[in-house]
Amino acid sequence: SSRFTTLSVPPADEAFAVNGAYLADTSPDKVNLGIGVYRTDEGRPWPLRVVERAENQLHEEHDAARHEYLAIRGDVEFLDLARDLVFASAGDKEGSDDRIASVQTVSGTGANRLGADFLAQHLRPGRVWIPEPTWSNHHAIWTFAGVARGTYPYYDVAGKCFDWVRTAQTLNEQASPGDVVVLHACAHNPTGADPSKEQWEKFAALCQAKGLIPFFDLAYQGFASGSVEEDSWAIRHFFHYQPQLEFFVAQSFSKNFGLYGQRAGALHVVTSSAGLSTGVSQAVLANLCSLVRGEYSMAPRRGSEIVKTVLRSPDMRRQWHEDLQLMSGRIKAMRQALYDRLVALQTPGTWEHILSQIGMFSYTGLSENQVFAITQRHHVYLLKSGRISISGLNESNVDYVARAIDDVVR
Ligand code: PLP
Repeated sequence: SSRFTTLSVPPADEAFAVNGAYLADTSPDKVNLGIGVYRTDEGRPWPLRVVERAENQLHEEHDAARHEYLAIRGDVEFLDLARDLVFASAGDKEGSDDRIASVQTVSGTGANRLGADFLAQHLRPGRVWIPEPTWSNHHAIWTFAGVARGTYPYYDVAGKCFDWVRTAQTLNEQASPGDVVVLHACAHNPTGADPSKEQWEKFAALCQAKGLIPFFDLAYQGFASGSVEEDSWAIRHFFHYQPQLEFFVAQSFSKNFGLYGQRAGALHVVTSSAGLSTGVSQAVLANLCSLVRGEYSMAPRRGSEIVKTVLRSPDMRRQWHEDLQLMSGRIKAMRQALYDRLVALQTPGTWEHILSQIGMFSYTGLSENQVFAITQRHHVYLLKSGRISISGLNESNVDYVARAIDDVVR
């Protein structure tokens, strides 16, 4: 007998399970709209041109220290550049760093988890408020960190937009001071619906008034609007809104640099200006480093080397912006293509949301039964919430997908 016979089997992660089912499908017609990764018009992965250039440069430099350990905190130059990408705007070149403690993480997931562990250990929030719906890993991360979870009704199903009224009502009535609120900084996954700037302003005021701790998840900077600066507007607003407001930012370079498997990311903890004289941000940093050391010693270095190489060169940075424009431009073109075909087919329902939603995903509005049917009958793979990754669409399959949607909604 085994001492492990008592183990129950947890459900598989949906996005990766859908991807596995797609790979196992032998139909020549199969289409993968499940996983959130960028694909070219030929349906292939795309190493960004600027990433290839940085890789070539790193290869030529042939630095003998390239496989050495990073510091526990991570690569400090990478962290400064990563922080400035979020907190500095064109007018003020440097992100103010004396309030911010930054550490390198195992990409965005690791940043979310490190922040959750830090909060659970040191601030013991009564509850974390997670948007409904959300990236499903938020629930796993906060469960493993041991923090009680609540949800706020993020999405207005009828209006197909962010539901500020019900969000504010829920948090005002049910959240307590010291609770954490998870926020998608831009390109909300899975709905593709973000708060307006006016709603972000109200959100900052609500967090301040109620004593809540905002926790931004920034996984798609550059993918919502195509502009990295515009996509971190909400975070900069919170930063400048109230120098006392303390909050977290989990930053990922998976999508905007196409470095998915390299695990490049950072956690930034913004501390109150009131703690500056007593060195609060250094104490936060030391505690983050202590958690990192006990968990994985330090983050991997290849991805952060690439990001650093690009961000410190004005020329490569320009090229990165072009690459981002290319990716976000192709996604926008595919939204339009899918919309045009559904309208031409006179598919029942309204489809304007496919155009108005932003980022990598569209929340189609397909029901769970329709998702089941489209996968069974047409080999089109997507999440059961009806979320599709738009970048899985291309000129060769968009017609087919539109006809498949048309078939299952009739
Ligand atoms: N947060 C959100 C909302 C995401 O969609 C993702 C990836 O899909 C992540 C975080 C983390 O990704 P990674 O761990 O690859 O940086």
